[in-house]
Amino acid sequence: MICSSDACDHLFELSSAKSSDLRRERGLRGTENFWLEGICGFHRVGHQPRLIEGWIIGAHARHMETLTEEKVLLGLLWLFRKFLSFDVPHPKRFLRTQWHSHPNFRGSYSFQPTYADELRTGRWDLESPLADVSGRPRLQFAGEASSRTHFSTVHGAVETGWREADRLNEFYQVRA
Ligand SMILES: Cc1cc2nc3c(=O)[nH]c(=O)nc-3n(C[C@H](O)[C@H](O)[C@H](O)COP(=O)(O)OP(=O)(O)OC[C@H]3O[C@@H](n4cnc5c(N)ncnc54)[C@H](O)[C@@H]3O)c2cc1C
Repeated sequence: MICSSDACDHLFELSSAKSSDLRRERGLRGTENFWLEGICGFHRVGHQPRLIEGWIIGAHARHMETLTEEKVLLGLLWLFRKFLSFDVPHPKRFLRTQWHSHPNFRGSYSFQPTYADELRTGRWDLESPLADVSGRPRLQFAGEASSRTHFSTVHGAVETGWREADRLNEFYQVRA
């Protein structure tokens, strides 16, 4: 979103207090703006003083992708008016991403919902290989989603490749 520099100077992260305000907001759930609950913050972009970048996660992000760009912008402007004490002007230009709808990507990177915690599952399960009866790994999993520490990053993805290579090395060294 490209805006005047004044507006860009006052960016905000939705703190947990503000997020719960948002959840309590009467009339948000069940309205066409329900997807705004998935917004987790806005950030300045380095060396781009007139640009702000918003982040959205989970199922709400997928829903956002189905809306027209105009509707997305109207929702965001509603959010700004709700939480900021100053007027945010209509941006000069606005662009939203559609990583999930893109057939070559089908998403951006992994997202661990609280429901996964309820199920007591997590990235440690995603890294578990499928082994045959002799314990030999037959199907292994790498990728950022399986990284316990550096998920959502390229270096996390790379490290998981090394992790799986080490797993094979250890397996065959024991048998050598
Ligand atoms: C907008 C954006 C900005 C980012 N910025 C940064 C950054 O600044 N720094 C950073 O470290 N990381 C960044 N990341 C994250 C980084 O790109 C990912 O963490 C990294 O690419 C993950 O690598 P991966 O190999 O685990 O998965 P991916 O690179 O997602 O590879 C998965 C592959 O599997 C394919 N695939 C999916 N489903 C199937 C299927 N059913 N059958 C066959 N193939 C399938 C996909 O097409 C894809 O090619 C960013 C990501 C995005 C989207």
